[in-house]
Amino acid sequence: MSQEKINFNAGPAALPLQVLEQSAAAVLNYNNTGISILELPHRGAEFLAILEESKALVKELCNIGDDYEVLWLQGGGRLQFAMIPMNFLGKGDTAGYIDSGHWAAEAMEYAAYYGHVDVMGSSRATNYDHLPEWPTHIPDNLKYLHITTNNTIFGTQYQHIPRVNVPLVADMSSDIFGCERDYNQFDMFYAAAQKNLGTPGVALVVIRKSMLTHLLHSLPPMLSYKAQAKENSILNTANVSGIYVSLLMLRWIKHQGIKNIIAANERKARMLYDAIDNSSLFTTHVKNTADRSNMNVCFTAKDKATELAFLQLCAENNIVGLQGHRMTGGFRVSIYNAIEESAVIQLVELMKKFETNG
Ligand code: PMP
Repeated sequence: MSQEKINFNAGPAALPLQVLEQSAAAVLNYNNTGISILELPHRGAEFLAILEESKALVKELCNIGDDYEVLWLQGGGRLQFAMIPMNFLGKGDTAGYIDSGHWAAEAMEYAAYYGHVDVMGSSRATNYDHLPEWPTHIPDNLKYLHITTNNTIFGTQYQHIPRVNVPLVADMSSDIFGCERDYNQFDMFYAAAQKNLGTPGVALVVIRKSMLTHLLHSLPPMLSYKAQAKENSILNTANVSGIYVSLLMLRWIKHQGIKNIIAANERKARMLYDAIDNSSLFTTHVKNTADRSNMNVCFTAKDKATELAFLQLCAENNIVGLQGHRMTGGFRVSIYNAIEESAVIQLVELMKKFETNG
């Protein structure tokens, strides 16, 4: 995190200071090559080493084996919304989607361009203030079931994901490496990098290799997982600097230790939810405690004047980025892996001060 301000933005989000410093050094001179990471050739030995290390680290941190393919693709999260049905859903085929938030719904809308969508649960009617009931029956003929593990805008998160009888595909954009997961239960998972894993435009995509044999469509290579895997994610000029920042994040995560990150995330979230639950000015969007996200804490103030006054107080105290998404209003405090506990403590102290001083 940069030292000047506490940045609670949802993404692009705060990066650890160490990663910022290493990125800055690499912009001036990458690894003593005498050229900048911004100038580094995408087919040279240096970038190949970045790719290999990053792929190995993803496998190590997820505890997955060589039966998975790790790809670094462009187009952020949304291009995955399109590539998944393009690659796996033929005309006349059906995929299941759980409609747990705005991004889940958008992924579903993209799928409808290619095949049938079976909505296996939705909490849209109550502005996604809880996680939908997990489906009791999942038809065997679904090409896949798509879920969003953490709903960035509404602040809900699956802590436990049941095993399913069809391929399971998960958007982990806003909680990858931030909570307990058995990554082996997923046939594909992906994450836009700008929250827990680097900078915008880059997407980490992990696919079980056996899924690549089920691809149905003849697609232009850029949109085909098989072609991207065959070309080692450098089918075109790769986002060299973006992938390098993701590698720095992976190294940082490994150095912190996932268990420590998860424990810190739980402490940070508990601190913040306790402060909101004990306040007479603020209320959480998600009432069901089991559904609450440890990554995005969404809440509102009792009226607009209180909301604006608190945002103003935060700004005066160099705390930025906690304005809620336009779909919920209020506040959203994104406390991703890189956010230090001290930042949350400062916010909670400010909330208490605000409440006491009226
Ligand atoms: N999925 C989730 C869970 C997200 O939070 C977001 C963006 N906030 C996206 C997908 C879309 O990512 P992008 O903007 O990179 O397309």
